Amino acid sequence: MEGLDKRAPFTAAGGIIPPEFRNIKTPCYILDEKALIKNAKLLGKVAKETGCKMLLAQKAFSNYDCYRFFEPYLAGTEASGLFEARLGAEEMPGKEVHVFCAGYRADEFEELLHYADHIVFNSPSQLLRFGLMAKKAGKSVGLRINPECSTQEGHAIYDPCAPGSRMGTTRAQWDEAILKNPELLDLLDGIHFHTLCEQDSDDLEKTLASVKKKFGDLVSRMKWINFGGGHHITRPGYDIERLKRCIQMAKEEWNVEVYLEPGEAWALNAGFLLTSVLDVLKNAETQLAIVDASAACHMPDVLEMPYRPPLLGADEREEGITVRLGGPTCLSGDVIGDYKFGQLPKYGDLLMFGDMAIYTTCKNNTFNGMPLPDIWLRQADNTMVQLTDFDYTDFKGRLGRRR
Ligand SMILES: *Cc1c(COP(=O)(O)O)cnc(C)c1O
Repeated sequence: MEGLDKRAPFTAAGGIIPPEFRNIKTPCYILDEKALIKNAKLLGKVAKETGCKMLLAQKAFSNYDCYRFFEPYLAGTEASGLFEARLGAEEMPGKEVHVFCAGYRADEFEELLHYADHIVFNSPSQLLRFGLMAKKAGKSVGLRINPECSTQEGHAIYDPCAPGSRMGTTRAQWDEAILKNPELLDLLDGIHFHTLCEQDSDDLEKTLASVKKKFGDLVSRMKWINFGGGHHITRPGYDIERLKRCIQMAKEEWNVEVYLEPGEAWALNAGFLLTSVLDVLKNAETQLAIVDASAACHMPDVLEMPYRPPLLGADEREEGITVRLGGPTCLSGDVIGDYKFGQLPKYGDLLMFGDMAIYTTCKNNTFNGMPLPDIWLRQADNTMVQLTDFDYTDFKGRLGRRR
């Protein structure tokens, strides 16, 4: 956008754009070193006080230039497959690499063994197919269980315990498998569950009760248990004391090592998406503005989850003009949300969305030929470092062969 230096330092919604953000090209993501370190310290404190091990689930946040902020506080990374496992091994050398994938592939498995330390299988049949190979390579082998304990309402897309779920092994599935293949039990070093999403420790406590009831006998034969992710530990108000009791309970009840692998919690409220207003319009009673960031491309969870991201200045406001913000793509539903503004925004105005470090930079896309927003880091001393330099080749390169 032209005239970067002429932009107002405050947004029409209210709130002041930090000076170091004012002169960079939009749209862009800004990761915040201080906030990342604050989260990491809190997670590290829980690990230290309980003796559990914290992993970073990379699918939520994998901007590896920032891994150094987490390194003192975590035991390793968690990956959803080969590429994330490789990234964890490359970018956190010397730390543990854990993998969970609902379906491993024979043509990748050997390479995966090269990077991973812990391999978690989703089903007895995957365990049967690959377990021995992992074991022979000296890996720690786990099974993801389904404790059949739904703790979230209305979010079937995020509920691995929903009826008919493909995620994890139910007790009935396990009992049936072990009748046919008793040798499966000897392959297992650990039990893994992942059933939470942005939840507090009361839901973890409920889940653990179900794990104990359905799988307690199995867990007590294991070396470790992994509580998965979805623990919103760094959210203000999260009940950390109860989490600590849960970890303690597992250690005492089953004499196992406890792993947690949050994703969101590491980078919660630790990033921004800066965008500029491209147009302001009105359709009957609806006041609209088009911005240069797209929900569909740059914040896909806004549509998938769905949720409305915080906007600087708008959320503290009770009175004001309601403006519906949407992206420049052709998708009618590319709407970020309705926000209260102190005054009508105008062309060129800067707007700043909060909590934009998670499930964004690792999940965006170039639908409509939208450019990928560059990623910046605001360092602890408020200086800005540009981490990426995306351009047309990032769009074209994933669509075909000719350069
Ligand atoms: C998604 C996921 C995580 C991380 O979840 P968050 O909600 O980001 O904390 C951890 N483990 C597994 C197996 C996952 O699928």
